[in-house]
Amino acid sequence: MTNSYRITLLPGDGIGPEIIAVAVEILKAVGKQCDIEFTFTEALMGGAAIEATGEPLPQATLETCRESDAVLLAAIGGYKWDHLPRHQRPETGLLGLRAGLELFANLRPAKILPQLVDASPLKGEIVEGVDIMVVRELTGGVYFGEPKGIFRTETGQQRGVNTMAYTDAEVDRIAKVAFEIAQKRNRQLCSVDKANVLEVSQLWRDRVSALSSSYPEIELSHLYVDNAAMQLVRAPKQFDTIVTGNLFGDILSDAAAMLTGSIGMLPSASMGEGKPAVFEPVHGSAPDIAGEDKANPLAQVLSAAMMLRYGLDEATAADKIEQAVFQVLDQGYRTGDIMSDGMTFVGCQQMGEALLKALS
Ligand code: NAD
Repeated sequence: MTNSYRITLLPGDGIGPEIIAVAVEILKAVGKQCDIEFTFTEALMGGAAIEATGEPLPQATLETCRESDAVLLAAIGGYKWDHLPRHQRPETGLLGLRAGLELFANLRPAKILPQLVDASPLKGEIVEGVDIMVVRELTGGVYFGEPKGIFRTETGQQRGVNTMAYTDAEVDRIAKVAFEIAQKRNRQLCSVDKANVLEVSQLWRDRVSALSSSYPEIELSHLYVDNAAMQLVRAPKQFDTIVTGNLFGDILSDAAAMLTGSIGMLPSASMGEGKPAVFEPVHGSAPDIAGEDKANPLAQVLSAAMMLRYGLDEATAADKIEQAVFQVLDQGYRTGDIMSDGMTFVGCQQMGEALLKALS
């Protein structure tokens, strides 16, 4: 039986169109092999949308995304739009997309490929074999809690205030996503909080613990965030899936990403409940190399693999793409950002061709 999916493509700006073109070819090829049919619809976002419509996320784009099964985003932004007022900036489109699709879970994998161990700033023996997924709550916590602002006290001092708050429902829904992700991985979930100091973290810990009875096959552990940061650098192999709140996740996901040392290799996903999820590389639009066929398309291609695995439940197709990435790296193909001695230097398109060959 053929499975059919509607995919919205958001190429965006800079290197976006170059790298998403590679991912589309890979998806078409893997689709043929796995009996999956994709209908791709391209929509405007970021600087490209500002040029065409005056706004970074046109309503028509949001509607197209809502009507699809998954959204594959490349990258947005560039020098040209940096001076615009905040509401017209490309990044505002990204926040609008997250809000519009109610994407509350951010998934950031950090996997060390054996061929790129040397790219890590840490010693090979510490990072070899690392394969971590950080699940970060994206729409709550201290970034959104009320009250917030800078207020005057009675004595005339200024006082900056933010509020870290989570409801039980907010914790439950992100924990559920994390348990389900862990189920598709090595079935270990580490919840990170600061329950020794923060009441909001105590609630977080209580709810995550309570939910674990629904997932008896997942081994749940808890760490305080300071210890988690230390352990991520000291012994990252101990982690499989990590779940944490918005602030802690913001910091820990970047720390975990740096274990890999190569920004052109990192995919990510933002997911909601019963709505299409958005899959995109962690890197930006790299305007410094746009249009020069120098971009590494692998983070985008791995984002397409994440889309298959976590967005569409097509694990076999995802495996095939990841294996192809593995193979081209084994064959020594490298774009400029991951180039090292003795390897074969390729551009974005050539990397795409090598991937297609590996797939076939
Ligand atoms: P960037 O990630 O675009 O680039 C940082 C450096 O990494 C640059 O030297 C770039 O050439 C290189 N790089 C990034 N991706 C690469 C790839 N796939 N292959 C090879 N090299 C790659 O970050 P930046 O320079 O801080 O931002 C540039 C623009 O991107 C800005 O407008 C920023 O707002 C935007 N941005 C967008 C997103 C997004 O779309 N989610 C994320 C971050 C930054």
